[in-house]
Amino acid sequence: MAIVSYLCLLTLFFSSWAAGSAGEKERFVIQRKAMVERQIKGRGIQDPAVLEAMRKVERHRFVDERLKPIAYDDTTLPIGYGQTISQPYMVGFMTEAAQLKREDRVLEIGTGSGYQAAVLAEIAKEVYTVEIVEPLAAKAKERLIRMGYTNVHFKQGDGYEGWPKFAPYDAIVVTAAPPKIPEKLVEQLKVGGRMVIPVGSFDQELYRVTRTKEGVEKEPIFGVRFVPMVKQKE
Ligand code: SAH
Repeated sequence: MAIVSYLCLLTLFFSSWAAGSAGEKERFVIQRKAMVERQIKGRGIQDPAVLEAMRKVERHRFVDERLKPIAYDDTTLPIGYGQTISQPYMVGFMTEAAQLKREDRVLEIGTGSGYQAAVLAEIAKEVYTVEIVEPLAAKAKERLIRMGYTNVHFKQGDGYEGWPKFAPYDAIVVTAAPPKIPEKLVEQLKVGGRMVIPVGSFDQELYRVTRTKEGVEKEPIFGVRFVPMVKQKE
C-alpha cells in the first residue's frame, strides 16, 4: 500500500513538473509572438524572412536564468563583461537593412550572446561571427552548436580586421560602434554588398554602406547607442 501511494506521489510530481516546463515553453512562444507583432512588425519591419526568423529564435536561451522572464521585453539586456544583447527592434532593423538573400554569406562583428548571429543564420546561407572577449566567444559558440546551428562559424579576435579568410561577404553586420567606418571591413564586402554599422564615439549614427563598382555609398539612417568597438590590446 505504501509503495502504491509512493508511486502515485511520484507520478503526480513528474506530471506537474512536465506541465510546468511545457507551460513555460508556451509562455515564451506567446511572448515571442507578441514581441514580433508589437516591437518588430508594429514598428515597420516588413521583410517576411526577418519576421519569421525572430518568431523562431528563442531569445530567452541567450540570457542568464534570472533574466529569462524579461527576455522578450523592448530593451537591451546584460550578458556579462560589460556587454549587452541588443534590443529586439535593433536586431530586426539591422537584419532587414542588410537585405539578405538565402544564398548570402554574412560577416557579423560582435558575437556577444550569439542572438543576432542566430537570427542571421535563419535567413542567410553562412554566418561568420567575430568576438573580441574570449569567454563570450566561447559561450556563444557552445550555445549555438547546442541549438543545432551548423552554418555559423566562430572566431575570437579583433573585428577591426574582419575575417579575410572567407571574404568577400554579401553583407556585414557590426554590433559595436567604431569611431569611424573601418576601411578593412569595406574591403571585405562584395561589389553590391551591404554593411550595417553604428558609427561614432558619443553621438552615434547607424549607417548602411554599400560597395559599388565606383566606390562606396554611405546612407545615414538614424541615431543609435551601441557599446564601443574596442581595439585589441597589444
Ligand atoms: N550581436 C550581439 C550584441 C553584442 S554587443 C548579440 O546579439 O548578443 C557588442 C559585442 O561586440 C560585445 O560582445 C563586444 O565584446 C564586441 N566587441 C567590441 N569590440 C569588438 C571588436 N573590436 N571586435 C570584435 N568584437 C568586439
